[in-house]
Amino acid sequence: MTASLPAAPVDRRRGAGESRGVSADAIDRIDTFPLRIPFRAGPGEPARPPVDSLLVRVTTAAGLHGWGEAFGFEATPVTRRAVHDLVAPLCAGRDPAPDGPLMSEIQRKLQVFGRGGIVLHALSAVDTALWDIRGKAAGLPVRDLLGGGAASLPCYASLDPYGDAAAVRGAVRRAVDAGFGGVKLHERDVAAVRAAREEAGPGTALMADVNCPWTYSEALDAAGRLRGLRLAWLEEPLWPPEDYAGLARLRAAGGIPLAAGENAGTPLDLGRLMDAVDVVQPSPAKMGGVTGLREVFRAAADRDATVVPHTFYHGPGLLAAVHVTAALGGHGSLGALVEWRCSDLEAFPYGAALLPDRGRIGVPGGPGLGLDPDPDVLRAFQPG
Ligand SMILES: [Mg+2]
Repeated sequence: MTASLPAAPVDRRRGAGESRGVSADAIDRIDTFPLRIPFRAGPGEPARPPVDSLLVRVTTAAGLHGWGEAFGFEATPVTRRAVHDLVAPLCAGRDPAPDGPLMSEIQRKLQVFGRGGIVLHALSAVDTALWDIRGKAAGLPVRDLLGGGAASLPCYASLDPYGDAAAVRGAVRRAVDAGFGGVKLHERDVAAVRAAREEAGPGTALMADVNCPWTYSEALDAAGRLRGLRLAWLEEPLWPPEDYAGLARLRAAGGIPLAAGENAGTPLDLGRLMDAVDVVQPSPAKMGGVTGLREVFRAAADRDATVVPHTFYHGPGLLAAVHVTAALGGHGSLGALVEWRCSDLEAFPYGAALLPDRGRIGVPGGPGLGLDPDPDVLRAFQPG
């Protein structure tokens, strides 16, 4: 079903503005583009199972295209159905203004299906695409629509999981040699984290993401064993991820900074997390796109909280984070910072146009998100 599902146009009969005609600015159709790009964790490493992503294109009646990204992975076919069956019909013929009534109306209509997960992932992609359209219509990058900001940002290398201290050491060496000032591991074993610290030396920021494995007491024990390794943060130590009170207790007792937020569904949830952890990590492909990120960053500015978006992907979701971080980031303790998924993909959605250079990533200066996905990549890496 994934590959054969047609790029469906939105249904004009449903959701169209009842009291007015469809203007040239109105949303005309929404198409989805699942991507399955093979990758290795690094040069010489064995191939890993591909990780799918879902790009979404919104087209106005006047022919403007905007691109967004929904968190994909194994859920890509389901999220794709949510875009076509739930979200697209409500967008038909509507004004694409990202801060107009459309997105709020859709959220209210679909709230019975949950305030996190697949439906919000689908909505997140559409929101980012609407900001891309607004920037293209205005001739301005999204960064400038949000007040302007830096032309490039520091990014940290977010490594694939290895599960082996020697392999971790090699990956850390490659990242440091490539110029990254920070490296994040996806390792739970203290020996692997220790090897990474030894390889990175004292001058590199080191983070460990463990993806929600532990009870409170297990996490407290792990924090004790990790404490001497001077982590910039320990990410998602607790199961379940929404145990914010447990995170706050662990933060107070564990002696190392904590990060979390990629599984939070809404800006309100992320605001609550600001009370529980040191680094809040909204994922724009999950929690509301550019609009959701803007809300989180504004709350962070009021509270001097640290926000470093989760972007373990390379498409418009990453660009959303880059633009919003450039315009609104920098509060809290770490400064403006971008996550770069440091996998060795066969191809990237934007080709060579969005790759870090010596640990920095450029903020594209063209209108909207500043880049459109490479059509050759979209064609060549369809699943199925
Ligand atoms: Mg993570």
